[in-house]
Order: sequence, then structure tokens, then C-alpha cells
Amino acid sequence: MGASVASVAFISVTGARTVNYGESSRGSFHALLNRVEMAGLLSGLDAHETNLVLAKYRDDEAAERALRAHVRLYAVGLALEEQWKITKGRPIVCNMGALAVFEVISPGCCRRCNGTGMVFNHACNTCNSSGYKPASGRAKAEFVGVHKYQWQQVWNDRYERIYRYVLDMEASVETKLAKVSA
Ligand SMILES: [Zn+2]
Repeated sequence: MGASVASVAFISVTGARTVNYGESSRGSFHALLNRVEMAGLLSGLDAHETNLVLAKYRDDEAAERALRAHVRLYAVGLALEEQWKITKGRPIVCNMGALAVFEVISPGCCRRCNGTGMVFNHACNTCNSSGYKPASGRAKAEFVGVHKYQWQQVWNDRYERIYRYVLDMEASVETKLAKVSA
């Protein structure tokens, strides 16, 4: 019993992009939180990782704000290091930080397979059976505030690195939680 609950939670922590067992990832994670003391569960996580968990699975707005601030700083660091050309007054870098956090915390559910990754016992080809439907390049460009061509040429690669940073943070959470629930 313990092992199966842990594995569901383990997968739910990796996000809807991997597997969804027919219930929302939030639901299965809450089940784990009820079984394991929250404090003990989070004790192995650093402040940013804790914010990620609280923001993603507890809808904690303060934690989400703090995480956004942290990821924006990371993005600004990248921009300075690589001397990205940015028109003054355009919050492109900050918007990319916010988008990366949003994408990890609230991954879009694939509407075709309803997040299960399967359609009539076949792998869903809309989302490549991930259950997760990423935002389109156009939608990301719009959110960040650049033209879609500019997005494809310049900003998408930069954004992917910021997004990867948050994903890596999530992967680290997953590793630590797997140890706790083992
Ligand atoms: Zn799908």
C-alpha cells in the first residue's frame, strides 16, 4: 500500500506531463500530504523547492510570488551574463520568468485524452501520450510580449533555459520526495 501511494505521488510530483491516473495530480498529492506530515515531507527541500511544492499543490499564492521572484532573478542573471538586448521598459525577461513558473505550476491538460495520455487504449498523439499540452509558441510570445517571429528567432531558446531551470528544480523535489516516501 505504502509503495503504491508513494509511486503515484512520485509521478504526480513530476507533473501532469508524465502520467495522470485519472484523478488530478493535485488530488493524489493531497492524499500523500494527509498520510505524511507536511513538515517532515518538506524538510529535505530548500526554500525555493518548498515554494514550488506549496505553489503547485497547495495553491499557495505567497509561495508562488516568492518562486516567481526567484526565477525572475535567475532570468535577469542570464540576461546580464549574455548581454541580451532589451528595449528599456519592456518587461520581457520578467515575463519569461513568470511564464516558466506558470508552466511548471499549472501545466495545461491535454483536452483530447483528458490528461490520461490514452485515447481508446491508444497513445494520444495530440500530446504524445504525455497528458500535457504545452502552450503554443504563439501563446508564449503573446504572454511575454514579443512578436511571434522574434520569439522563434531569439526568445524561445532563452525561454527554454529559464523553463528548464524550473523543471530541474521540480526534478530535484521529485528525487527528494522519492527518498522520503521510500
Ligand atoms: Zn493527450
